[in-house]
Amino acid sequence: MRLIFLGPPGSGKGTQSQNICKDYGIKQISTGDILRKNVKDQTELGKIAAEYMNKGELVPDKIMIDIIASELKKPDYLKGFLLDGFPRTIPQAEALDGMMSKMGLKLNCVLVLEVPHEEIIQRISLRRVDKKTGKIYHLLFNPPLPEDNVELYQREDDKEETIRRRLMVYESQTKPLIKYYSSMGLAFKINGVGDFKEVYERIVKVLDSRLEV
Ligand code: AMP
Repeated sequence: MRLIFLGPPGSGKGTQSQNICKDYGIKQISTGDILRKNVKDQTELGKIAAEYMNKGELVPDKIMIDIIASELKKPDYLKGFLLDGFPRTIPQAEALDGMMSKMGLKLNCVLVLEVPHEEIIQRISLRRVDKKTGKIYHLLFNPPLPEDNVELYQREDDKEETIRRRLMVYESQTKPLIKYYSSMGLAFKINGVGDFKEVYERIVKVLDSRLEV
């Protein structure tokens, strides 16, 4: 199965993706994770990407398309993949179409997770990460216990001003993809409000109807 997961930053795509991949036996490709690893390792790519990421801007299309082109060649994805965070612009989507048709691959569906912006801001601006374990907490909904002994920090791009910028970028550059994939009959909207299990059940219903295409 080959999927794209669209949705604003902080809509829960990352967490839902991990579950989908486990249940459907496919691999996740998160361009955000690939970039963050490069930033951490201080590679050339990481240095360039950090400048855009810290401002909440998109990394240029050419860089992102090259990353996906080399990623898709890996044998890891023979059984399928879930793209989380790519494509984010029309040129990225067109490049992906070109790559997949050359490889003789078809998309099963594009999931579009919908969550109101105000809820996202509340979710992300209170999100914290533990320095030692990388575990994600929420100061209101999932605060650390005293015995967790955490050292919390806030991701640079989780600050409220940057989130607002990221949401604006989503509206202007990524949202047009919904129309793009709808015209191909591939886009399926999912209500992303509710607890994790509830939202996951909505996703599974769509995926099960798209297994054979
Ligand atoms: P994410 O974790 O998917 O929200 O990505 C974090 C940041 O990485 C984004 O705000 C962008 O700066 C950058 N990024 C990730 N994927 C892409 C992409 N497909 N195109 C451009 N920038 C990206």
